[in-house]
Amino acid sequence: MDNYPVLKIKKGRERSLLNKHPWIFSGAVESVQETTNGQIVQVVDSSSNILGHGFYHDKNQITVKMFDFSSEHTLFDEAYWEYKISSAITLRNTFISQNTNAYRLIHAEGDFFPGLIIDIYANTAVVQILHKGVQLISEILFKILNDKGFPFIFIKQKEHHRNNDNVTIEKGWYKGKPNPSHPIQIIENGIKFEIDVVNGQKTGFFIDQRDNRQLLKTLSKNKTVLNTFSYTGGFSLYALAGDASKVVSVDVSKDATASCINNIELNHFTKHKAIAADCFDYLKEMPSDEFDIIVLDPPAFAKTSKAVSQAARGYKEINLKALSKIKKGGLIFTYSCSQYISPDLFRKIVFGAVVDSGRNVQILKQLSQGSDHPISIFHPEGEYLKGLLLLVN
Ligand code: SAH
Repeated sequence: MDNYPVLKIKKGRERSLLNKHPWIFSGAVESVQETTNGQIVQVVDSSSNILGHGFYHDKNQITVKMFDFSSEHTLFDEAYWEYKISSAITLRNTFISQNTNAYRLIHAEGDFFPGLIIDIYANTAVVQILHKGVQLISEILFKILNDKGFPFIFIKQKEHHRNNDNVTIEKGWYKGKPNPSHPIQIIENGIKFEIDVVNGQKTGFFIDQRDNRQLLKTLSKNKTVLNTFSYTGGFSLYALAGDASKVVSVDVSKDATASCINNIELNHFTKHKAIAADCFDYLKEMPSDEFDIIVLDPPAFAKTSKAVSQAARGYKEINLKALSKIKKGGLIFTYSCSQYISPDLFRKIVFGAVVDSGRNVQILKQLSQGSDHPISIFHPEGEYLKGLLLLVN
């Protein structure tokens, strides 16, 4: 039925593929028929049994990213991609509450779709194309998104995607059609936010923290809350919605601080102070016993595996400061979103900070990304957001 070029795996190197890990490194490749970068290849074992199909790229560290592990001959046409996106929509409809219209629709490997991230903000889809293979099918994907009720598509490319994967698609509104309601207003668990998909960080919002923000809301009544690395105020707004007595948001970016203030006004909240400052300095200089709850949600300090030990020092420092200064009986929400810091390592870093602080600490909850950021059990690297809710005495 299909005639995709065949890529043969070396004998003895099939194990991770049989375990459905989606990445094939160059050292595992025995041979490949003539193909071009981004093409779909059929992956076979040394006895020519079909192991599945993936996107090929000989310049990438990962030669093939698998998106299908069926041993059938399959045609990867519009109906196939439509089915993948429909399945993802069904999953989100099950888990995302009615009063939320911002969610991740496709989470790359976590949705068996390497090379693609799609975030939905109302009727706008923000798309990140991370692999040439996805670029080659992007017109089909955009048509499917349009048919599914997302007529506005913003393509959000980062510079390094182009360098790594030879993705040449440009950042911008698809077909030059900006969303008429830019900046886009979304609602998350009943709270309004304005999202700047063009200039904002990530695709505009940190959707992955939705459930954790909701948890904060349930614990905030009459509490003083410090939200560090606050960006556009996500955690702060939930704390205020949960009747916190005072919320302070701190972020080094003046633009983020302005957006935070804007979101506070949009929801008519008071009892809030936004400060544009470096959180390391702020945590160092603030007095003790001012806050009942502290949120530590920094950017990924380790962006590469080489940066892990320096990043660990950064995580330890902010945790130590917060632990030392929080009120007795206080709560700390502490996170790392770095893919290179494993959950186990993160726990050890926090443990080190607790020991140095001399406080008594219990872990009340282990936190992760929301269910619209699923983790393929075959691809543990997808578990990037780790958090702990600490009770500090
Ligand atoms: N918690 C946020 C997301 C945080 S993103 C949310 O739920 O939406 C990380 C933020 O940290 C960014 O806004 C960035 O501007 C800020 N940041 C990075 N380094 C910082 C520093 N040293 N001090 C204060 N803010 C910093």
